[in-house]
Order: sequence, then structure tokens, then C-alpha cells
Amino acid sequence: MSTTTPILIKNAELFIPEPMGMRDVLCAGGKIVAIDEELQVPEAMGARVIDASGQKLIPGLIDSHVHIAGAGGEGGPATRTPEMPLSWMIEAGITTVVGLLGADGVTRTVEAVLMKAKGLRDEGVSCWIYTGAYQLPAPTITGDVARDIALIDEVIGVGEVAIADHRSSSPTVLDLIQLAKQARLGGMLGGKCGMVHVHLGDAERPFELIRQAVDQSELTLGQFHPTHVNRNEHAFEEAKSYGRDGTVDITAAAYPYFPDDEVKPSRAIRELLEAGVPLEHITMSSDACGSLPEFNEKGELVRILSARLYATWRETAEAVRDEGLELTQALATVTRNPARILRLPGKGSIEVGNDADLALVDESFQMRTVIAAGALFMADGEIVKKGTFEVGG
Ligand code: ZN
Repeated sequence: MSTTTPILIKNAELFIPEPMGMRDVLCAGGKIVAIDEELQVPEAMGARVIDASGQKLIPGLIDSHVHIAGAGGEGGPATRTPEMPLSWMIEAGITTVVGLLGADGVTRTVEAVLMKAKGLRDEGVSCWIYTGAYQLPAPTITGDVARDIALIDEVIGVGEVAIADHRSSSPTVLDLIQLAKQARLGGMLGGKCGMVHVHLGDAERPFELIRQAVDQSELTLGQFHPTHVNRNEHAFEEAKSYGRDGTVDITAAAYPYFPDDEVKPSRAIRELLEAGVPLEHITMSSDACGSLPEFNEKGELVRILSARLYATWRETAEAVRDEGLELTQALATVTRNPARILRLPGKGSIEVGNDADLALVDESFQMRTVIAAGALFMADGEIVKKGTFEVGG
């Protein structure tokens, strides 16, 4: 039993992510224990009561692509990004992340990602990881993709494996089939999704290799979760047809750093839906802690930033405010959909028995309250629980 104080949220407009009207929600022991029109708790329980009048109660967001242990480095050693601070999750209402290596599977290790994940769990949020990196053969912890997924609690699949990219190891169709079969076996043995998370690069027809891998094996598209589908217009056009059969992940944080190429994430959600892609197939993640170069008009590098997770929430809100989507639709891409596609237990929706991962937002979609595993991390718009090495933490 957790020692956190029970929390009773009253008078909230509840989105689970579907709209449920005005409801009270009680959290205790890290779980959601009651949802009703009117809840009272005995004083002896010592619950903290939050009056959420005028606010929307939503599931804590799931960001399924974050370089939690740092990334970047493609501009030399000084451009390596640091590890993700906990507060970058909290400011964005994110209570679950999936961590991974990226282009640098050379000087960075899956072990470091695993330890960062354990650190985040100790700090009170939820975290899973992918084994592997851009390159094949995939770097692993135990020496084998299937063993990592089957044996290590935090590991749910392999990724981000790069295809159609000059930084990839140019995997063949057979390479991808073999990798996916290892991930599938590991997933079956470990009770995980065993997903292959695929980084799509800038080359033409980026989805082709995945299609071929499925055509030439017993695998299904459900084994693959391609990301960066909005990285340019030609990839995005292909995503509109691929997404009818398979899942597609929109990247939030690269916009607006590459405005000539990137399809704005909030617009991408709307356009995928309009193209007939089922909502259940669409997810959005930040790609945070990747490096974002900023150039001046002459094309000279002015500065380099580490991408923040906040982009995930910003684009969710703008999908509603600027693109006319229902809040439920926008929320699904960052809550229920990633929870289902990646088989994250107890995550992605506000239901009795699920983990008490919640956020309250006001009319202008500002984060006001963030609760992870029943503990308060943001109250009245201020972060009240920070990471180990954060100032004031
Ligand atoms: Zn990537």
C-alpha cells in the first residue's frame, strides 16, 4: 500500500478520454478507487480535496518517444543533450514516458537508458524503454533483443530502428523481419507488446521496407510502430494510406524548428483523420531530448536546443483550439492509443482500478494539477515535486 495521501478531486469535467460530464474522482494507494457524481470521504481518511470547478480532468499523458538519457551529438561532442529532468514531464502533464536511444547507439548504451528509467520510477512517474538504437545489429543489455524484452521488466520492444535514413545501417527486408521476430518472441515470453519502433528518415517511400517485411513473412503491421510520419510532405502523404492498416506516430517537438518540412503535428492529426485513418491508429510523441538546431537566415547555426516534452501537450491543445478536433480525439493520441498499442498496464484512461495518473487543465488548456501514481507533482500551476538534482527539488 502506498503511503501517499488520498486525493479527492471534486467538480471536474471528466474526460476519460471520452467526455463523462461532471464527476468526482478519488485516488488512494496510487490507484483510481472511485468515480461518481458526488463523492464524500470520511475525515479519518485524511484525503486532500481539490476543487476542480471550471477545469477539465484528463488522463496523465503518455509520451512514447523520449530520449530520457540524452541524445544528439551529431554536431560533435558539445552537442550531446543531457538527461531529461523530471520537471519536463510534469510541466507537460506527462506521467508516463517510453525512453530510447537514437542515432547514437555508438557511444551511448541501453544500460544508461535502463538506469534512467529506474531513476524516473524511483522519482514517482512511470517509465518503460526500448532496447536497441538506430543501428543493426541492435545494441542490447543481455546480448539479445528477445532476452532483453522477455527478462527485463522495463523493456517493451526494440527501437528506434532507423530506415530510409543516412544515419541508419540500411537494414534489408530480411534484417527487419528477423528483428521483428525476435521482438515478437521476447514480447510473447515477457507479456509485452514486443513492438518494433521504427524511425523513418527523409528518403523516398519510407514505409516501403515495413510493407515488404510484412508481405514476405508471417508478421503483421501491428508489430511495427513507425514514427516521424509528419517529418515531410511525402512521408505524410504515404502515412495517410499506411495508417489505414497500421499505426502511425506523429512527432511533436521538431515543429517549428524545421517549418519548411514538418507538417504541424496538430494539423497532422486532423488530416490523418480526414484521410480515413482510424483514430485508434494514431499516436503522438515528443522526441524530446533530441537536439534541435536553430539557424539564421544565412543558414548558420545560431544555437542548439534540447527538445522539451511540452510540445506533446501544446499540439494536443492546439488540435482542439486551432484544428477543431474534439478534446477526446486529440487526447486519445497521447493517452488511450499509446497505452493500447504498447500494452502499458493500468495506463491511458481514467477508470477505477487504473493507476492514478491525472491532470487538470483550465479553460485555456494551461496545466494546473498533475498527479502521478496518486501523488501530487503539480498544484495550482506550480511544480511541487521535482527531480533529484533539480534546483529546489
Ligand atoms: Zn527518430
